[in-house]
Amino acid sequence: MDDVLVIGGGPVGLFMAALLLQQGVSVRVLEQRTGAEPHSRAIGIHPPSLDALQEIGVAPDLVAEGVPIRRGLAVGGGRTLAEMSFAGVSDSYPFVLSLPQARTAAILEQRVRHLDPAALHRGVRVTRVHDDGGKVTADATAGGSAVRYTAAIVIAADGVRSTVRAQFGTPVRAKDYPDSYQMGDFADSTGFGPVAALFLESAGIVESFPLPGNLRRWVVRLAEPGSGGDARWLVDRIRQRTGVEVDPESNSVLSRFGVRTRLVRRMVAGRTVLIGDAAHEISPIGGQGMNLGWLDAVALAPVVLASLHGKHVGAELRGFEARRKAAAARAARQSEINMALGRPLPAGPWSVRNRAIGAAGAVPAVNGFVARRFTMQ
Ligand SMILES: Cc1cc2nc3c(=O)[nH]c(=O)nc-3n(C[C@H](O)[C@H](O)[C@H](O)COP(=O)(O)OP(=O)(O)OC[C@H]3O[C@@H](n4cnc5c(N)ncnc54)[C@H](O)[C@@H]3O)c2cc1C
Repeated sequence: MDDVLVIGGGPVGLFMAALLLQQGVSVRVLEQRTGAEPHSRAIGIHPPSLDALQEIGVAPDLVAEGVPIRRGLAVGGGRTLAEMSFAGVSDSYPFVLSLPQARTAAILEQRVRHLDPAALHRGVRVTRVHDDGGKVTADATAGGSAVRYTAAIVIAADGVRSTVRAQFGTPVRAKDYPDSYQMGDFADSTGFGPVAALFLESAGIVESFPLPGNLRRWVVRLAEPGSGGDARWLVDRIRQRTGVEVDPESNSVLSRFGVRTRLVRRMVAGRTVLIGDAAHEISPIGGQGMNLGWLDAVALAPVVLASLHGKHVGAELRGFEARRKAAAARAARQSEINMALGRPLPAGPWSVRNRAIGAAGAVPAVNGFVARRFTMQ
């Protein structure tokens, strides 16, 4: 019997495991995939997360591989409307780090393996958890055989289609949005360097972020859900809306996504706790989902440690749940604001809106407030 079973070896489960392992807790991570996920969704790592990642000693490796974004521009109709600096948002990491999720997860996995080479069990799909009040048992399949694991506490970080959440039966606050996007990674031809740019155009927003290796990620709001096309199609939309020429032949990642919010009403049931996307799925516009999950883990770790030391932690768990649900609701609201700003507008209201953004961005207090909100401070 282990102290803790972590279900799901994505970025949140791996980080949770590393936090506990380095406190001497015996942890097993059960991950259904036999190999690493190749597809990179998240790229943005915010300053509070870098502080947390420093606690497990991986922040320097991440920073060495990533691109620190220290400035962002709002552009519209070929003009810079506002400029935002992240210099004041953190003493330790005054930037948003851009690094593909696959690399982030690989560095976290390496850390877990360093702390305990036997902690991560790949190819294990959990089908059911059972809490008898004194311990939790997880039934799983591995290589076609049934396997069973037992621990004092189960932490489910098994993503948006969480098996554990479904079994929990916790009500979920659900919201669907009319917005959909296409993203693609291309060679960087912009001259923006390590600066992020949001093009607030009448036909809909285009976002552009630097990536390591002289690449850039472009995210284009689609006119209709289900529209979009190949790399050439995306490059045409980028040119039409922003005037920037991107080489379609340099395309690597290409995908489309719709957006929705799913916030659980309960993160804790007996000896089982939901964290990460299993507890809260929010729109990627604003780039906070993975960061939110890491901050769940930071808040949960001391409660788990106290519980394993025999302390009664009912009140601490209730506090954890209330604070993390509030953080998820805040991030969801922030992403709703971001999505609303990026919707298409007729020419008149579009120029009024952009002038207002320019005026607000010129007020230092407003600019600083938005920079802090944007970086999860
Ligand atoms: C296009 C896009 C862009 C994004 N950009 C950003 C960004 O810039 N910044 C940001 O913070 N967030 C971003 N996000 C969100 C981010 O990708 C997620 O919030 C993050 O992956 C959540 O991590 P997780 O570990 O909770 O879940 P996941 O990454 O989904 O990991 C869950 C893991 O659990 C495993 N699993 C599932 N079920 C079982 C089971 N029954 N048994 C065993 N294992 C199981 C899965 O195989 C998976 O490995 C973006 C999302 C999208 C779609």
